[in-house]
Amino acid sequence: MLIDVHCHFFTKNVMTESIIKLEGALSRLERLSNPLATKENAQMVTAGKNGLEFINTAIQNTPQEMYEIMKKDYGCDFIAVPLMLDLSYAFLAPNDKAFENKKTLARTLKKISEKRRMNVSNLKLNNIAEFMERKLDIYDRSVLGVDVFQRSYEEQINDLITIKDALPNRVYPFFSIDPRRNEEFSGGVISEIKKYVGKDKSFIGLKLYTSLGYSPTHPVLFEGDDSVYGYCEKNNIPITIHSSLEGFSHMLDQNYVEGDIYYPYSGLPIPALDAYEDGIVKYDKNVRSLIFNEITAERQILLNHPKLWFKVLDKFPDLKINFAHFGGIIQMSKFANDNQTGFWPKYIIELMETYPNVYTDLSCYYNKENNPNYLKDIYHNVYLKLSESVKSRVMYGSDYFMLSLFDTDLKDYIDAFRKAFGNDFKQISEINPIHFLELTLPLRGNVNRSMFK
Ligand SMILES: [Zn+2]
Repeated sequence: MLIDVHCHFFTKNVMTESIIKLEGALSRLERLSNPLATKENAQMVTAGKNGLEFINTAIQNTPQEMYEIMKKDYGCDFIAVPLMLDLSYAFLAPNDKAFENKKTLARTLKKISEKRRMNVSNLKLNNIAEFMERKLDIYDRSVLGVDVFQRSYEEQINDLITIKDALPNRVYPFFSIDPRRNEEFSGGVISEIKKYVGKDKSFIGLKLYTSLGYSPTHPVLFEGDDSVYGYCEKNNIPITIHSSLEGFSHMLDQNYVEGDIYYPYSGLPIPALDAYEDGIVKYDKNVRSLIFNEITAERQILLNHPKLWFKVLDKFPDLKINFAHFGGIIQMSKFANDNQTGFWPKYIIELMETYPNVYTDLSCYYNKENNPNYLKDIYHNVYLKLSESVKSRVMYGSDYFMLSLFDTDLKDYIDAFRKAFGNDFKQISEINPIHFLELTLPLRGNVNRSMFK
């Protein structure tokens, strides 16, 4: 049976509030940037707005309806692995000194605008205050907005438990929690994982997304007798991490990071404390530049570089991790065509060659350049050159419904995979995922079991 190891059932409950806020912020930004900004920035704002509007209408469905839509597009029965995403601190880090600084900034801006009201004749002050006030508004909504994605954690747990109960043999959700929330739960983050994740629980695995603002070696994950990795390794709980130069990230100017960051000057992971005063990482790219792919790339490099994960696996060599997206379609297309700026997939292959339980998935591999051969290039130039052992850990995934953001429907998506991978499609979409998830399903047809160690 077809297994899609990477999809999302985010619903309106989870996101609407934040979408309305972000839409408001973007409209404001659009008005603000039109006379000032470059054409590129204005286009970016419009693209952002369209994207949000699209999500807003796309997520009218319940998770069960989403499953049924996928099933119809796939044209066959299938197993979905919906990944949860704890977005509680996507725009705000708890106990964060940077947040304190923002509150100070907010107070200062309020003072300036009060002065402005009293002194309207001072044109220069007037302009500065107006400009800053608009910025403050954007901060308020998108960065300072403590309530952005509020209750998203609880809502997602409820949604996914409901669909697991309804379709126990068709849906295998992955749980997600931000390690910075350790103090919020009486038994810490590990108690939440023990409560929800395991073979006999609603969630079969764990999803981590470090570019939201934490290190892969955050002490809650990495240190001590009851670390998250230690628990997952011991209990064979699969973890999926986002592993791409693209995607999503926090947009704070700075945030306190416990554990290691990737240090580009040495090309190695080092404690954030060594590189930044008080461990507060300062970012060059920020929300004001509006170049979202640069903002994301900077945070993916600092907080999610594969070298950081070598350090994790060095300590927990049997940990079962899926490095989702195999570096991402943009990096992968470059890598497949020998463009040296495509480097991320090479590291993932190295991780897979070094550690026996490292997997990867090909989710969100949409046809970016309208090139009919895009997946065939990847199949011939990358997949076929992998060792048999690495091949046995490559998995199919869609990233539904994020995929829809890239104007791709699921039917065309899987057709492209079936065409490019031919007889190997079964390997990546059934055999390897069964092994990753440790499902006990009857396999149809001839299966090359010798690939399994
Ligand atoms: Zn995803």
